[in-house]
Amino acid sequence: MPRPAAAKPTDAAPNLSAPQKAMHRLGLVRDIDLALHLPLRYEDETVVTPLRQARDGQTVQVEGEVRDNRIEQRGRRQLIVRLDDGTGEVLLRFLNFYGSQQKSWAPGVRMRVRGELRHGFFGREMVHPTVRIVREDTPLATSLTPVYPTGAGLPQAYLRKAIEAALKRAPLDEVLPHGTLPANWPSLRQSLHFLHHPPPDASLQALTEHQHPAWQRLKFEELLAQQLSRLQSKAERAHLKAPQLPLKTGGLHERLLGVLPFDLTAAQRRVCGEIALDLQRPQPMHRLLQGDVGSGKTVVAALSAAIAIEAGWQCALMAPTEILAEQHFRKLVGWLEPLGVKVAWLTGSLKPKAKREQIAAVASGEAHLVVGTHAVIQDQVEFAKLGLALIDEQHRFGVAQRLQLRRKLESAELEPHLLMMSATPIPRTLAMTYLADLEVSAIDELPPGRTPIVTKVFADSRREEVIERIRDEVARGRQVYWVCPLIDETEVSDQTADAIAGRDSAKRPPLDLSNVTQTHQDLSEALPGVGIGLLHGRLPAAEKASVMERFASAALQVLVATTVIEVGVDVPNASLMVIEHAERFGLSQLHQLRGRVGRGAVASVCVLLYASPLSDSGKQRLRAMAETTDGFEISRRDLEIRGPGEFMGSRQSGAALLRFADLNEDQGLLARVQAVAQRLLRDHPEAANRHIQRWLGQKAEYLKA
Ligand code: ADP
Ligand code: MG
Repeated sequence: MPRPAAAKPTDAAPNLSAPQKAMHRLGLVRDIDLALHLPLRYEDETVVTPLRQARDGQTVQVEGEVRDNRIEQRGRRQLIVRLDDGTGEVLLRFLNFYGSQQKSWAPGVRMRVRGELRHGFFGREMVHPTVRIVREDTPLATSLTPVYPTGAGLPQAYLRKAIEAALKRAPLDEVLPHGTLPANWPSLRQSLHFLHHPPPDASLQALTEHQHPAWQRLKFEELLAQQLSRLQSKAERAHLKAPQLPLKTGGLHERLLGVLPFDLTAAQRRVCGEIALDLQRPQPMHRLLQGDVGSGKTVVAALSAAIAIEAGWQCALMAPTEILAEQHFRKLVGWLEPLGVKVAWLTGSLKPKAKREQIAAVASGEAHLVVGTHAVIQDQVEFAKLGLALIDEQHRFGVAQRLQLRRKLESAELEPHLLMMSATPIPRTLAMTYLADLEVSAIDELPPGRTPIVTKVFADSRREEVIERIRDEVARGRQVYWVCPLIDETEVSDQTADAIAGRDSAKRPPLDLSNVTQTHQDLSEALPGVGIGLLHGRLPAAEKASVMERFASAALQVLVATTVIEVGVDVPNASLMVIEHAERFGLSQLHQLRGRVGRGAVASVCVLLYASPLSDSGKQRLRAMAETTDGFEISRRDLEIRGPGEFMGSRQSGAALLRFADLNEDQGLLARVQAVAQRLLRDHPEAANRHIQRWLGQKAEYLKA
């Protein structure tokens, strides 16, 4: 399902330099990976424009001699370099600079700079142009200069060189049989050379809009690789055998329905029906249950578990955080234990003795249902008879954990059924490609009686007002979340995650908890007599559980927390969510966080506090949050705001995996690809395999995870 684009663990090759490691993190390992890493855009460095001919607002390359440079205090300290090209002068302004730059950009030095010309207060200027020191005879570029998508720790210049070298070495022979592609398209080799180094007269528009035949060819190949790999794993699955789990009249499933405190929505009933049908079949279910935050996926999971248990099989429910797992555990125990179901509990933080007992109960078959974090799928856990695996918020699990899960499922004699749950909406076209080997059920309505959440965006200077609001809310018997950002919070019993990924726990950077602890202290002082809890990922598991429990039972009225509460936490009495430094969060993360309120009948409010100045994308994100609560719309805007350039860092969206093709714009291509893929797999399985390897390499394995 949505899988990270960068899959290869960096630890596999310990002797890499920092930029090499960064390349590996981006999945750029083989020559072919680099050759297929295409420019985001181009810069035209093939011409130098005389200043006299350049217009304001134009992005141009200019070459001239430094007349002088000085450091000035104009609002901010800055380095100002005056450049003269013989036809005019331009001031280059640098807000971030090194002392060494002032030295090397000395009077008389010849510089080639590129940037946007503006009309400034002291004449024409360029802010932060790219700079090259040149000699009079330094040749100009002969092709457009590629700008590649990159990531932290990987400078553009380094990446450019690496790609240049890889392009020479990479095997680029034609893999697809003659007739697969339109005859008038360029070869793969031609396409790649063209796209990495387009001649100066190439249409920038056709290039940036990805309409050039070279682009068509690559998009087609990319879509084809994805489609083939999906079809392949679907075909593989058809040969697998799974236990048949029939729905019994008067069985556990029906009895659970009888004791639930609410009626299912029509959407919940529909998806339960779809799942029940799958469970009866002798092939393993491979289904994604999608539903926006608060749509009620947990009860669907519980009902599915009831079917498996009634049929005499075990069921495992795995959640990405201990807090969420604990909450599921409590809920499921409440529903199912009175009906005679024995529920086991497994997380990384259990004491060894307790863990041994739980593992023994799972191995003997005494436990019907196991709830926990990914500890549930570790090697030492042997199921007597696992029939169904339920994965909550599955997009939050890392690649290593997904692979581990697959190994676990494959190790059983009969492959267990698999139901994954996610609140991250996936557009239909995406579902057709990435999820071609996955069935999708969608809960497309919220339970009745929910009052829509009102979202307010406030500058941080209005904090006092917000604290007043908390006082009111608490006085009315309601509860409040206050969320603070935290850099690098790694979740779920970190040590196990580290062990699986082969990382050294001790090397984890320390966390800066000052924000969340300070806020906790401030609120405690401002609101005497109010029970205020503090929750973050680094607390001992027992303390996390106890804080969460006291908040759930309303012994605490306010919970100051990091994003550990981002997914799944369900306290319907909470009606106010304050998110501090909201500008630092991603859009989908804000949506998830906001989903913690508005879960009961009371009208809920979400306050997004921001610190000025806001960046443009920060503004857009906060505006989107204020304007809509619809998960699909949020997800659409998220992609729009972040754009393709950031696709690589993204771990939450399956769209991140399509690097070149755009499923909305390229629907024509997609239809063609779907027809070709079937035929290719049937008539030329070898070529299909080579094509998958070329495009996906080791990622093909991860894609199935
Ligand atoms: P999510 O889909 O985000 O995982 P949950 O399963 O946590 O949502 O459900 C959100 C809340 O709605 C829970 O308190 C749950 O008990 C409640 N709920 C679920 N289904 C219904 C329903 N049909 N009617 C009323 N409340 C429901
Ligand atoms: Mg949930």
